[in-house]
Amino acid sequence: MNISSSDTSVAIIGCGFGGLGAAIELERHGIGNYTVFEKGDEVGGVWRANHYPGAACDVPSPTYSYSFELETEWSQRFGTQAEIRAYLERCAVKYGVAPKIRSNTEVVAASFDESAGRWLVELADGETQWFDALICATGQLSRPKIPDLPGLESFGGAHFHSAEWDDSVELAGKRVAVVGSGASAVQLVPAIADRVRELHVVQRSPNWIGNKWNHRTSPRLRRLMRTVPGLARAQHNVEWLWYESRVPIIFNGFDPLRKGVHAWLRFKIRREIDDPALRAKVTPGYKAGCNRLLLSNDWYPTLDRDDVTVHTEGVRAVTPSGLVLTDGTVVEAEVIIWCTGFSATEYLAPIDITGRDARKLHAEWKSGPEAYLGISVSGYPNLFMIYGPNTGSLTNTIIFLLEKQARYARLAIEHIGRNGGWLDVRPQVQQDYNRDLQRRLAGTVFTSGCPGWYHTDDGKVVAVWPGSHIAYARATAEVDLTAYESGGGGLGYSQPRRGPV
Ligand code: NAP
Repeated sequence: MNISSSDTSVAIIGCGFGGLGAAIELERHGIGNYTVFEKGDEVGGVWRANHYPGAACDVPSPTYSYSFELETEWSQRFGTQAEIRAYLERCAVKYGVAPKIRSNTEVVAASFDESAGRWLVELADGETQWFDALICATGQLSRPKIPDLPGLESFGGAHFHSAEWDDSVELAGKRVAVVGSGASAVQLVPAIADRVRELHVVQRSPNWIGNKWNHRTSPRLRRLMRTVPGLARAQHNVEWLWYESRVPIIFNGFDPLRKGVHAWLRFKIRREIDDPALRAKVTPGYKAGCNRLLLSNDWYPTLDRDDVTVHTEGVRAVTPSGLVLTDGTVVEAEVIIWCTGFSATEYLAPIDITGRDARKLHAEWKSGPEAYLGISVSGYPNLFMIYGPNTGSLTNTIIFLLEKQARYARLAIEHIGRNGGWLDVRPQVQQDYNRDLQRRLAGTVFTSGCPGWYHTDDGKVVAVWPGSHIAYARATAEVDLTAYESGGGGLGYSQPRRGPV
């Protein structure tokens, strides 16, 4: 019987770094029968959506690229949003993925038909299609979150989320309020400060900020990278190892050394801010490393400007002319920019996912999403996640983990192609895996109590991987078939399959 994984049909949802990487992984291994569904009009995911002023990477670009497609033309060590987006567009064309992307196409539901052993994917316009496997790469940061505040609708000026930047709104000469002080605000605020008349930064919690050791890449350096064999690879590997060496910071055993890190970060605050009251406002009261260590050389100097005011309260309400903070302070503004993050812990929402026995994924994940290796979920056969629960990377580049997940999904799909049927991770395996994961997390900085989106409201850490990237690569090196129940197999694809094709 001639059974081939190239016959296996795969739906990939999302075409950011994760979904595109998964498509390339399939393409490079001869699995060409896939469709990439992308809600937006182009590839790029968060790097398409986030085009706010100052948007750039905060991981060095030599490692924030696919390991098989090292880019030598970055204009600086930390590439800009436009460059990263262009890089992804180039990759989509070069690896033959572009023709298989259905853009402006939103997947609203997917349900597993056990008798057919296949997924029925439903699109927003009502169209349905059957697939043997599903790769969900919708990302954790694709749904911008604006707080549901009283009076929001009454605001008389313009307001928008940083990830939905409104180019039609003129900031020059305006009073602008930026709500939030996370990764996006730290890049955006210095980029617009010169343009606006008055800037208010609403910083509910301060973040630890380190130096961004950025530099422009000269044409000479770029030529060297392009022409000297192995040089770009060596640069990638050195950067990667340098970042991997930061792993101990996530363990509480690192605390004596962390004191040194705190001293260094406080020194940066003293050096870059003159006003002692402002220094106190921006100094976090939690351990460095428990949320993203942000990198900026101009955030503190910008906050220290006379035309910039830092407020340290949350927002209580919005009025027609601005914001009211929780301490009653009134902030008058003509434009409000929400840098308030994303609905990050609701993985795969709002897609309605139905598994075996009519199980509903989002109902099961009510108290926090769980998966096996962040990739497979028991009860949902042949569904593979990219950037799923507990696979966020704080110490190194997320691209490495995305590649490992894509490789794992491809290995499983090849198995499905050879044997037919489906693979469903055993409930006990998933349970044991997550018990062990939470036990390991208990010894890390992530459970030491800090603001951010790595945990649910109940404090369960669901977003980050509590180990090294090498450990994750080892864990995902092979598909351990004993961890999976298989079903519906043995038919082979030369036999007619049930369910529409
Ligand atoms: P974020 O880092 O989660 O920051 C959200 C900010 O909004 C926080 O300061 C938060 O305060 C504040 N906030 C939320 N609700 C609020 C409210 N009701 N009132 C006042 N403040 C409120 O979000 P982000 O800046 O969009 O970044 C999200 C993630 O995107 C980052 O963690 C990072 O992974 C990624 N990112 C990456 C890059 C890159 O260069 N690679 C750049 C930008 C973003 P609390 O801290 O008190 O909750």
